[in-house]
Amino acid sequence: MAFATLLAPEVNGGVGVAFTDRWGGVSEPPYDTWNFGIGKDSSEHVSANFALLAQATGCGQVAIAAQCHGIDVARVGEGFSFFGKDSLDLAHAPTVVADALVSVSTDVALAMRVADCVPVVLADKGKRVIAVAHAGRVGLLAGVLQATLEAMRREGAKQITAWVGPHIGPECYEVPLDMAQAAWEQLPATRGLSAAGTDAIDLGGGVCAVLEAEGVDVERVDPCTSCDPRFFSHRRDRGVTGRQVGVVWLGPSGSA
Ligand SMILES: [Zn+2]
Repeated sequence: MAFATLLAPEVNGGVGVAFTDRWGGVSEPPYDTWNFGIGKDSSEHVSANFALLAQATGCGQVAIAAQCHGIDVARVGEGFSFFGKDSLDLAHAPTVVADALVSVSTDVALAMRVADCVPVVLADKGKRVIAVAHAGRVGLLAGVLQATLEAMRREGAKQITAWVGPHIGPECYEVPLDMAQAAWEQLPATRGLSAAGTDAIDLGGGVCAVLEAEGVDVERVDPCTSCDPRFFSHRRDRGVTGRQVGVVWLGPSGSA
């Protein structure tokens, strides 16, 4: 099992939380081994990796979306494509374009795929509403987290906790000055410095600032994907790499 961190529903108020790292799957280099990126790696291997994830969560199936650095939130339910031990055909999926998923169902885990962007898992344990969001520079500044919280509140969520997962740290995220300034102006908490002392964006700082301003309790479990060889990193691996996931699921009612 290669969860970078894992909270089982039994110890977390009925909500399972995980961030995978790159180990524990079946893919071969350069996607070794637990890759969830679709398109370049062998689809048989990626399917097998999803099946392992479905099994690990105990849900039997995993919902994902076609991510585009946008702010659309999809409610997981009918019409959704699922991946798991009963549906492994990646040729037909994913069909829903979204950068966040929200659900109140107990039988499906929600996953967002990342390799430097920030995976954010959210839950209202009491109301049993869960969500996961993909927050890179573009989505964060466009408001994907606010949109996710709004969708959760529509489902009845009030007391929301967020787990901020592994992503690229400011020390490794040097960007051109105009790009940095645009982010800093809109969201001052994104101001960062690279290891070389140059302009950088602090994605984790920005994510936490947005969540805290919305009254969310935040827990950071976020080593730098570029520094830490346990993770896939788009920047470190120059674009040829896999994707890890942030995952959330509801345990059976009463498992809290
Ligand atoms: Zn780093």
